[in-house]
Amino acid sequence: MQSTFIDAHTHIDATLQKLEYFDGFEKFREDVIKCPQCEKFVHVACDEASLPGGVDLMLRYQDVYGCFGIHPHNSKEYTPELEERLVDIFRKYGETGKVLGWGEIGLDYHYDFCPRDLQKEVFIRQLKKAVELKLRIILHIREADDDALAIIREHVPKDHIIHLHCYTSDPPFAKALVEEYPNAFVGFTGVVTFKSAKGVVDSVAALPLNRILLETDAPYMAPVPFRGKTCHSGMIPSTAQKIALIKGVSVDEVYRQTRENTRKCYGI
Ligand SMILES: [Zn+2]
Ligand SMILES: [Zn+2]
Repeated sequence: MQSTFIDAHTHIDATLQKLEYFDGFEKFREDVIKCPQCEKFVHVACDEASLPGGVDLMLRYQDVYGCFGIHPHNSKEYTPELEERLVDIFRKYGETGKVLGWGEIGLDYHYDFCPRDLQKEVFIRQLKKAVELKLRIILHIREADDDALAIIREHVPKDHIIHLHCYTSDPPFAKALVEEYPNAFVGFTGVVTFKSAKGVVDSVAALPLNRILLETDAPYMAPVPFRGKTCHSGMIPSTAQKIALIKGVSVDEVYRQTRENTRKCYGI
């Protein structure tokens, strides 16, 4: 039997919208993803407007799970009321086993859509809340490695479960995180297949395979040979092949180990 995998970070609503696909996720899975190996999906809702849709997706589809938090791009949205709405989602649906973590949250100095001071403030508030509620943390960090690491060290206990998603940096940040946090995992997307992504390839090489997750961040980051297309979970095999090549192991070993890692990180 072929190994299965989980897309550990995807934005299903945005993917369907981008493709103007209106027949629902089940049919999308059959018509577009077309990948029986793709077992489950961790859907991420990270702005205020997409919270209800995210709840709906995870409740409606057996293989879809949800993460909820406010992306650094949307830091301006963050209010005590919105924080309360997020806490409510975890309270209300915690027992379904479908809601998996708080995020994606973090710092993004690449786009700088929000002032950095505000990004930091909102990041810290969400980290504190996630730690208080003992929820997994999903991190989005771009070109802000030093600031992020300092904030994480200050606010997150060492045994906390962390998914540093769509890693696009050189090895030091990811290495420091997995060395200091025994329950931290690093997600790689199609970016690892890009010709320009030498630092990301180095990061895959530098990390142990038992700390790596497969993810798409769909609809973004389609791997080679699909660059320029709308990304979806069915493209993960291209990313897995590249990781296998870098690590010098079989693709099946990459699926087997990352599947095990997803179980450790997300409990699914
Ligand atoms: Zn992200
Ligand atoms: Zn994302």
